Amino acid sequence: MIECFECPIMCGADRELGAGACGAGKLPFVARAARHYYEEPPISGTRGSGAIFFAGCNMRCVFCQNSDISRTGCPDGAIPADESALADMMLGLEELGAHNVNLVTPTPHTRTLEKAIPLARKRGLTAPIVWNSNGYERTETLARFEGLVDIWLPDLKYVSPTLAERYSGRADYFDFASKAILEMHRQSGVLELDGEGIAKKGLIIRHLVLPCAVDETRRVLDFIKENLPTETYISLMSQYTPIPGMKKPLDRRLTKGEYRRAADYAASLGFANVFTQKLSSAESAYTPEFNGLIERF
Ligand code: SF4
Repeated sequence: MIECFECPIMCGADRELGAGACGAGKLPFVARAARHYYEEPPISGTRGSGAIFFAGCNMRCVFCQNSDISRTGCPDGAIPADESALADMMLGLEELGAHNVNLVTPTPHTRTLEKAIPLARKRGLTAPIVWNSNGYERTETLARFEGLVDIWLPDLKYVSPTLAERYSGRADYFDFASKAILEMHRQSGVLELDGEGIAKKGLIIRHLVLPCAVDETRRVLDFIKENLPTETYISLMSQYTPIPGMKKPLDRRLTKGEYRRAADYAASLGFANVFTQKLSSAESAYTPEFNGLIERF
């Protein structure tokens, strides 16, 4: 019996027997493992980030662009992978030239990953490991990854419980995400780059600006300002894309004015390292096809 209490939901599911609230069962399913070129510049660099997209998610964001793979733990075409298979995928991506191994939505799969990462290192992996998560995590779980993860790439989506409940079904999101981000910073500090501007170690916080929610963005930025150094790297994303049938105010893209107000506020707080996006980034081309592709060398 493997009762799971790894994430804030603490659903206690027996993952040997079935899926938890995140959709994940005993083994992770990989929807895609390939080089990805649409992350922040220090992550994608010139050779791409070695992204391993996992199925399942412990949040239920109404605007999720990856719902094909986030709402279930074993979507069509995805491949089950134990720690040995994951270690081999990591090594394969490095051999293809990826700057790093980018674990996308890793939170439901901590038990396999805490074995897979050391195994990949033992087999010769040298690339940094990126933890690319929604931020809804338990600090107790993250503490076990100290020394295993090099680069933390969490979202900080909301401060307000009302918005977190309305849009993601998780009113306690900020309680957990805020502490998770402080733990990530404690472990790895401010982002460090190599001579070519590629990330080696540290933290980048992502925040997606939402329509009619610039005040929420301000609250997120205020939290970062009050709790972390002004050198902290922030990725202020404009790529919100409505999915069909979305209700107001999420039925439209961000306006230039909304994004400018968000970016101006970040600048007014003195942040030195803010990645911004063009509004044209709101295109589905940034969402890869999840067809179980495992890139081979
Ligand atoms: S990771 Fe999944 S199974 Fe584990 S506590 Fe969270 S929702 Fe439940």
